[in-house]
Amino acid sequence: MTIKDIHVNGIITKSNLPVCDYSANPYVGCEHACKYCYACFMKRFTDHPEAWGDFVDVKFWQPVKNPRKYEGKELFIGSVTDPYQSSEEKYGRTRALLTELKGSGVRLSISTKSDLILRDLDLIKTFPDARISWSINTLDENFRNDMDKGVSIERRLNAMKVFHDSGIRTTCFISPIFPEITDVKAIAERAKNDCNLIWLENLNLRGAFGPVIMNYIRTKYPRLMPLYRDIYISGNDGYWQALDDDLRNFATDRGLEYRINDDSFSRPFDAPPVVVNYFYHSKIKKSAQNSSHKRI
Ligand code: SF4
Repeated sequence: MTIKDIHVNGIITKSNLPVCDYSANPYVGCEHACKYCYACFMKRFTDHPEAWGDFVDVKFWQPVKNPRKYEGKELFIGSVTDPYQSSEEKYGRTRALLTELKGSGVRLSISTKSDLILRDLDLIKTFPDARISWSINTLDENFRNDMDKGVSIERRLNAMKVFHDSGIRTTCFISPIFPEITDVKAIAERAKNDCNLIWLENLNLRGAFGPVIMNYIRTKYPRLMPLYRDIYISGNDGYWQALDDDLRNFATDRGLEYRINDDSFSRPFDAPPVVVNYFYHSKIKKSAQNSSHKRI
């Protein structure tokens, strides 16, 4: 693992993402090295010869000018890197950013595959309406271990519970859903009492990682190759439509609201989680751009 310090002017950037006004990434690169990482394209903006997952640049920035100007704005920490990857334990750059923004009134959204975030629970509690999401796409630690170097699923679920029990809104982000491997219902059952939202996102193989994933399936799950070829080579979306129907019925059976591409609503903290399906990527942007509330 190559780790180096870099100095940047600012840490907060205006975002084109439909889910936030600003984004911040205290690190470049990500030790979690997920095989399906959608952010691996970021490597081309660095001078690193190492593979994605084998380097981390630790950012040091000029102090945030006038943090109060972000009051009421949505700041997404971790759009292209995990802000609680293990380097954070040593360098504390995410904690440094939160400390700078404390009292600013910014609306925080943080995404992670780690429980190191528990260290910052008291600090995060000081932000109004903070929302934390954990990516979980399996309960099978062997598959998880094949896919990413984040902490175990049990540790993610435990962190989610601790945050939720502390009154902070949490999201179980079931992503990416691997056809016939990710047991969405089992994950939702485990998480539903500890989260406010359950997001569903299907696996796409449009990135450079597509062949890596197909090779993995060929080697580890050869019986699934006809299905994966049908979905990812023939472009048949019948599997996703059937899963969408199945999950809608599942949610209805359990009294959970089920929506498509729409989390533009607010619910009482203690209400059962809302399941939001993001299978239909092409419609996400439009839906989210039309949303005034964005994420709860
Ligand atoms: S945790 Fe996120 S940013 Fe990091 S490697 Fe995995 S998918 Fe990429």
